[in-house]
Amino acid sequence: MIDPKNSPETPCEGTETTESLDFIRTQVQADLNSGLNDGRVHTRFPPEPNGYLHIGHAKSILLNSGIAGEFGGKFNLRFDDTNPEKEDLEYVESIKEDMKWLGTDWEEREFYASDYFEQLYEWAQFLIREGKAYVCSLNLEQIREYRGTVKEAGRPSPDRDRTAEESLELLDGMRHGKFEEGAYTLRAKIDMAHSNMKMRDPLIYRIRKVTHHRTGNEWKIYPFYDFAHGQSDAIEGITHSICTLEFEVNRPLYEWFIANLPVPSEPRQIEFARLNLTYTIMSKRKLLQLVEQNHVNSWDDPRMPTISGLRRLGYTSESIRTFCDRIGLAKRDSTVDLDLLKWAIRSELNLTATRYMGVLRPLKVVITNYPEGKVEDIECVNNPEDESAGTRTVPFSREIYIEQDDFRIEANRKFFRLKPGKEVRLKHAYFVTCDEYIQNDDGEVVELRCTYDPESYGGQSPDGRKVKGTLHWVSAEHAVTAEVRLYDNLFREPFPEAEGHFLENLNPDSLEILTNAKLETNISEVTAENRWQFMRHGYFCLDSKDSTPEKLVINRTVTLKDSWAKLEAKTKK
Ligand code: ATP
Ligand code: MG
Repeated sequence: MIDPKNSPETPCEGTETTESLDFIRTQVQADLNSGLNDGRVHTRFPPEPNGYLHIGHAKSILLNSGIAGEFGGKFNLRFDDTNPEKEDLEYVESIKEDMKWLGTDWEEREFYASDYFEQLYEWAQFLIREGKAYVCSLNLEQIREYRGTVKEAGRPSPDRDRTAEESLELLDGMRHGKFEEGAYTLRAKIDMAHSNMKMRDPLIYRIRKVTHHRTGNEWKIYPFYDFAHGQSDAIEGITHSICTLEFEVNRPLYEWFIANLPVPSEPRQIEFARLNLTYTIMSKRKLLQLVEQNHVNSWDDPRMPTISGLRRLGYTSESIRTFCDRIGLAKRDSTVDLDLLKWAIRSELNLTATRYMGVLRPLKVVITNYPEGKVEDIECVNNPEDESAGTRTVPFSREIYIEQDDFRIEANRKFFRLKPGKEVRLKHAYFVTCDEYIQNDDGEVVELRCTYDPESYGGQSPDGRKVKGTLHWVSAEHAVTAEVRLYDNLFREPFPEAEGHFLENLNPDSLEILTNAKLETNISEVTAENRWQFMRHGYFCLDSKDSTPEKLVINRTVTLKDSWAKLEAKTKK
C-alpha cells in the first residue's frame, strides 16, 4: 500500500546507530552520546497560525513531541507569527485544540515568535554594527533582478556599503513608521555570488503597516521567516530544529545567523520529507481557497484533510497515530496512498465498533404471514471481533425496511439478495421469500410482500436448506429516521495538483446526503464519542456540529470493502 519509495530511511552514516531508529532519532542519539547540548533534547512544533492543522502537520507534531518524550526532553509549541496579514486568533485556538485532541502535551510551553520581536530587532542592530547588514532602498523587483541567476552571480545593491550609522537610523525610522511600505528593507550582507541564492544578501525585515493579532500596531516592520525561525529556536534552547525538506536550501542561512549572532544556544536543523497523500492537497493556501470559495463548507468539513475535518469524519487520534507510525520517516519526497489512512481507522474500528443495522435507502417490506401487532426482540451480536461486547436486542415486526439495492426484479445467479420467488436471511431474524413487488406509476419498486418461515428464528436454517444472501433490516415502526452523509475523496485524481488546476480535479460526488435513512432504535443511545458500524455499509459517527437529539446527522467515516461493487464493476468490464 505504501509507495515503496517512502520506506523508512536507513540511519545516517558515521554515527552510532540502533537499527530500529529512524535517521532523525539516530542523529539525536548520536548528539546525546557525544555530549552535545549538555545531554539535553528539546524539540518544537512551529505552526504559522494562518490555517487549520492538517494530517501532514500531525506527522510533524507526533515526530517532534515523540522524540522529546522518548529521549527525556522537552517539547515547545511555538507559533511562527511573523506574517500578520494572514494570521488570526481563530487559527491559534484551533491549532491548540487539535494538538490536545491528538494527545500532545506541550506542558504550557507555548511561545510566539512575536514574543521575540524586540530581541530580533536588537540582533538586527547588532548585525548592522558588525557590518553584516544594511538598509536597502531597492524595491522587491529590483532586488530580484540584482540577485542574478543560478548561473550568474548577482550585483551588489547600491546601498550595500551604507554606513552602520545611516542604516541604524533608517532602521529606526522603518520601525516607527516613518516610511511607506516597500521604501526600504533590511538585508544581511553575505555574498552576492554565493552558489546558494538564499545567501545573496537575504531580506531580514520589511515594512508592513498592518495590525498583528498579538502585538497590535506596535511594529511597522516584521522579520522574515529566515531571520525569525532559527533565532527563535536558539532563544528557546531548541536542540533539534526538525523541518520539512523544502527548508534544506535555507539551512546555510539558518546556520549563518546562528554563527553570526550572540545567540544563547546552537540548534541543529534536520530535514525530513513532508507527508503527501493521494487524492489530497496539503497546502494551507489551497485549503483556504477551498473554504473561501465554498468548495467545502468549512475548515472542519469532513472531506478536508485537516485534523478537525478528520475528527468530524470520525477518525480517532489513535488511528492518526497508527497511520503516522506506519508511514515512517523519509529523506526523499514521495506520496502515501490515501488507502493507508483509511486502513488505519477501519482496522481500529473493526475491533471496537458495535455493529448496528441501518437502512440508508429504505424499501418497505410487509411480511404477510407475520401476525399484525406482534413485536419480537431479536438478539444481535454487538461485535463478532470482540466477545466481551455482548449482545443487544432489536425489535422485529410485520413491516420492516431493507435496502432498495437489496432487491432486483431481475438479476443474474450471482445476485444473492432478494428477487421475486427468492429466499434470503434477515440477519439474526428469519428467512423470508419475496412473493410480490409493488411499483408506482414511474415503475419504481415501492413495496415488497414477503412470507417468512417461523421455523427459521435466529436466521438459522430449520431443515438444512441453504440461503446465500443475508440482509440487514429495521422494523418500520421502531426505526429512527436520520440524515446520513456519505463522503468520498475530495479529489477524483490521485495527484490533484499534477495537471491543470487542482480545482478542476474536485470530485463532484464527494458528498451524498441521504435524508431518510431508517436506523435501528438502539442508535438513539449513541453519543458524540461513539463510532459504530452499520452492517454492510461501513463505520459511522454523529456529526459533532450538525447533529441534535431531534435530528440525528450521521457521517460515514469509512466504507467496508464492498465485494459486490467490485464484482459488478469487474463483470461490466
Ligand atoms: P503551507 O501549507 O502554507 O506550505 P506549512 O504547511 O509549512 O505551510 P507551517 O504552519 O509552517 O505550515 O507548518 C508547521 C510545521 O509543520 C513545519 O515545521 C512544517 O515543516 C510542518 N509540515 C507542514 N506540512 C507538512 C507535511 N505535509 N508533512 C510533514 N510536516 C509538515
Ligand atoms: Mg511553513
